[in-house]
Amino acid sequence: MPENGFSAETFFGDGGGLTYSDFILLPGHISFSANEVDLETNLTKNLRIKRPIVSSPMDTVTESKMAIYLALLGGIGIIHYNNSIEEQAKEVKLVKRFENGFITDPVTLSPENTISDVDKIKKTYGFSGIPITEDGTLKTRLIGIVTRRDIDFEVDRTKKLREVMVTGLVTADAGISLAEGNKILKESKKGKLPLVDKEGRLATLMSRTDLLKNEDFPFASKNKEKQLLVGAAISTRDEDKDRLKELVDAGADVIVIDASQGDSIYQHNMIKYIKSNYPDIEVVGGNVVTAKQCKSLIDKGVDALRIGMGSGSICITQNAMAVGRAQGSAVYHCAKVAREYAGIPVIADGGIANIGYIVKALSLGSSTVMLGAMLAGTSEAPGDYYYEGGTRLKKYRGMASLEAMEKGGDKRYYADEDKIKIAQGVSGTVVDKGSVSHFGEYIIKSLLHAMQNLGYKTIKELHNGLYDGTLSFEARSPTAQGEGAIHDLHSYTSPDTALFYPPDRKKGVIF
Ligand code: IMP
Repeated sequence: MPENGFSAETFFGDGGGLTYSDFILLPGHISFSANEVDLETNLTKNLRIKRPIVSSPMDTVTESKMAIYLALLGGIGIIHYNNSIEEQAKEVKLVKRFENGFITDPVTLSPENTISDVDKIKKTYGFSGIPITEDGTLKTRLIGIVTRRDIDFEVDRTKKLREVMVTGLVTADAGISLAEGNKILKESKKGKLPLVDKEGRLATLMSRTDLLKNEDFPFASKNKEKQLLVGAAISTRDEDKDRLKELVDAGADVIVIDASQGDSIYQHNMIKYIKSNYPDIEVVGGNVVTAKQCKSLIDKGVDALRIGMGSGSICITQNAMAVGRAQGSAVYHCAKVAREYAGIPVIADGGIANIGYIVKALSLGSSTVMLGAMLAGTSEAPGDYYYEGGTRLKKYRGMASLEAMEKGGDKRYYADEDKIKIAQGVSGTVVDKGSVSHFGEYIIKSLLHAMQNLGYKTIKELHNGLYDGTLSFEARSPTAQGEGAIHDLHSYTSPDTALFYPPDRKKGVIF
């Protein structure tokens, strides 16, 4: 009945393509606190994670740092493949090797570097305890450390680190446990404890602040061996079978076959190849947007599907190729067929412009969401910050932007032999969003409250409501969208405006 909104079946039934903006969810009944909401969900058929957030395999979004922090929060990162096989495998290993409290890939400098080099590192990474090795790499002996207190009041920033570093360090053997390291750290009252191998080379660094963070990640995505979960992307090309092997050897838990139009003979062959050679690895197929495409990949054995074509913030596919689908309809129809036909989960990929859209994607039947733009610009995203007109920015680019394709990103778009590269994405910038560890928690907390408003304690219950018709949808006219956004104010402050009020895509203004 219209007075209580419509079921998804009725709402999406007439065949028109609907986006996340085109509808609103009507509230349910609250009988529990937000903290009772459990966001645990299936990433793939056999892999469960505690929070439904996945980072996109893009070279300005996911390398090991992003994957580590997302996994700590209960989500998962998918390492991009716009790099060499060795580089991608190394990023996977860094995640698998990560133990909270241990910095397995410390940034080092040499005694010949200057204080201003430390300043630069601090600006990029946000810390200033830097181990000093003989030649500035991990290949030579550790000889000192420079911490904030050694350089804070030094006026001459050109001074060599040799003159300010602290030597005679308290170190420990590289093989010690977290508990042992923790004890030494406490006794030494130092901020950092370098762990060295037999030759005196720095293996890892323990940090007091990281130890404190240790207790803050009870939802971390981990396997039985207590390693963080991580995914990695490959293309459908035959040559990526070598890449696949290295990624599996490096410990990737899930392989995402990355293609903009997933229903191809190439993807069929790759799925069959992975399933027969690595039967234990979970495979995500995609991208797809129709029921027919879904069935095509399900029949070959995928463990999850990635849904979306042309909805990404950096994407021009729909205008350049005239194919794709409005993301709301794509997620609803694909999630339904994936559930009914094979009982596998889907990932809603692309076009998530604010936290509300995450809720909408889950409400349309997706089990997780994949984020690009929303996670770009965080300190864990690859790339350096820079200023433009006084705003701190990071680069964010489509994998089919000309810029990314020049580096190899075209593998997703069947463009290998083409002399003329056809762009399906753009290269742009996003504003500094701070660390995923704060920003991610904010997103998750918001999701708990959203679920409470809808009256569902779990994503499973939400999906049951979707399919039994108790979850209610209503169309949102352009003026209704305006009413739901901030309006009629002279000025306002908000935690992060970009998160909640995306500009109208056509007009480039806040609606
Ligand atoms: P966003 O979260 O809206 O920024 O969308 C991210 C998604 O866009 C990715 O996960 C990909 O599915 C898709 N994507 C990445 N690069 C491109 C591109 O160059 N063109 C079109 N789609 C892209």
